[in-house]
Amino acid sequence: MIKILDKRTADKIAAGEVIDRPVSIIKELVENSIDAGATSITVEISNGGKSYIRVTDNGCGIPADEVELAFKRHATSKISDVSDLDSIYTLGFRGEALASICAVARVEVMTKTEDAKTGRRVIVEGSNILENAGFGCPVGTTITVRDLFYNIPARLKFLASDAAEARRITDIISKIALSYPDIRFKMINGNKHVFTTTGKGIILNNIVNIYGADLSKDLIAIDKKTDRFSIKGFVSNPAYSLTSRIRQIFCVNGRVISSSIIERGLEKAYKERLFQGRFPVAFLFISLPPEEVDVNVHPTKKEIRFDDNAEVEDFVESAVREALARTEAIPSAKIREENFPVSKKQEPQVAKPIEKPRVSEPNFEYKPERKSIPQGEQVDIKNLLSSIRKEEEKKVEPVKPEAEIKQEIKIARPFEPAALNIIGSVFNTYILAYDENCFYMVDQHAAHERVFYEKFKAQYEAIDKVAQQLLIPLNFNVPSDVVTMEDSWLPKVIQMGYSIEYFGNNTYMVREVPSFMTPYEAESFLRTLFTEFKGGKLPDNQKLLDRIIMNSCKAAIKGGDNISLNEMNALMMQLSACENPFSCPHGRPVFVKMTQYEIEKMFKRVQ
Ligand code: ADP
Ligand code: MG
Repeated sequence: MIKILDKRTADKIAAGEVIDRPVSIIKELVENSIDAGATSITVEISNGGKSYIRVTDNGCGIPADEVELAFKRHATSKISDVSDLDSIYTLGFRGEALASICAVARVEVMTKTEDAKTGRRVIVEGSNILENAGFGCPVGTTITVRDLFYNIPARLKFLASDAAEARRITDIISKIALSYPDIRFKMINGNKHVFTTTGKGIILNNIVNIYGADLSKDLIAIDKKTDRFSIKGFVSNPAYSLTSRIRQIFCVNGRVISSSIIERGLEKAYKERLFQGRFPVAFLFISLPPEEVDVNVHPTKKEIRFDDNAEVEDFVESAVREALARTEAIPSAKIREENFPVSKKQEPQVAKPIEKPRVSEPNFEYKPERKSIPQGEQVDIKNLLSSIRKEEEKKVEPVKPEAEIKQEIKIARPFEPAALNIIGSVFNTYILAYDENCFYMVDQHAAHERVFYEKFKAQYEAIDKVAQQLLIPLNFNVPSDVVTMEDSWLPKVIQMGYSIEYFGNNTYMVREVPSFMTPYEAESFLRTLFTEFKGGKLPDNQKLLDRIIMNSCKAAIKGGDNISLNEMNALMMQLSACENPFSCPHGRPVFVKMTQYEIEKMFKRVQ
């Protein structure tokens, strides 16, 4: 039932829904449709939504005698008093979206509830009801918004071009569609069909439908649960990254939000795997107790606030990190038909089906990967089936305690570099190797970078630091607050491996610097620390780690260096000792592999 909120409740709610552009109207309308339990929502726009917006749903509809009330400010069926505010599961609850939209555009509502004999049509302009009459229509609600800002023409010029406004709308509808995989969304722009999702609950299908098969090819499934938090979704293989966060979509408790906390957790999980300035693709669906999030902190409801930011950040980081480690992504040498052409006469051209992404989606349909069947061997169907069943059983294993999972990650390496048989190298750059199932190419430079990087990092993290003595000690004259707050930074700097002491007169003398830095880097690190001194905070770890990465690159052998078979074997041993042998610190792959099956396919021995 729609009620008018009492003043206290209305005031407590962040006021001022801003209807500044077509997309804000669409968001409100679609959220209302979702709240109404719709399983199918169609969004149509013309001229970027400036002249025409229509949202059609098959939700519960509005009772005939309440339609007018729905347009009143602070009219809502979703809460009735202040105590409800803390545990709100529905999307909109300020009861002012429809009222605000009517104030700036011509609005028409057609609606019918299931038990009403006939529907209702109400036309509103400003606060005037122009029509309220019976009307034949299906169950659900259709709201049409025409001529946005017809009564405030000055606001029109703040709108972007039709195309730009349409892009914003498509973007938000894409995100909402993704976060509601059980709802069928259809988006139409002008008379162009933009996309339709199936509403069948399969997130990966929606990603393919909305963003295309290309993006979805190299995704890795995320699935982690604790007693309070859960996260599901997909992230990109580190080999695939973008120059912006445009394809990072976060959904918390069913709501698409932006969150620098989640961004940071994600970024940390990819640290060492991606170049600076590259961003992973991520579709993350997070659930946590509603009382631990504040969704309405911003009037446009975008940025979310968590009770415990650090906890959320860590949870995201660990979930993504575990998934990356588990799958530790070895890119497979792609077989491209065009590289192995067959004459058109032999093979009739058929429309290519959308390539099925090579990931198994947790809790959704499961199709085991096609097994490679050695030539000439009899296929033992029983065996094959039972091995498939075993794989399925594995998928429903209960969540393991943390320590056990870590152990599993180690075991779950796809192969041990040290166990590979080395054939030699080509172009003085790529080592060729094989094991019983696969053929591998190894980028010797990337491999070395990884080895050096982990060595330097271990030195950095070690309790007893290896230090290098400086020929000439360094002197630093520092601001006096650096000295008065010495306790906040000096122990940390000593812990890093510096030998540093106070020399009087606001001066420190440094005799030794950590061995994982060059003396020059060690000096500029301290200089930055002292000039940007903010109450004892050391520059963040990322900067340090970046330096370590730089060092490891400089020390590593280059592609093009000729190395012997013995050195190649030694390199593989060192890689095996690494925590993550499969990508260089920048995120480039160390290994590229081809399975026997893929090779046989190239030679057309199998289909
Ligand atoms: P709020 O969503 O914050 O309650 P709105 O102004 O967006 O406020 O909507 C007012 C009321 O109108 C809602 O509480 C709901 O009862 C009704 N309503 C709006 N849109 C729909 C819809 N598509 N289907 C059913 N009811 C709707
Ligand atoms: Mg609403």
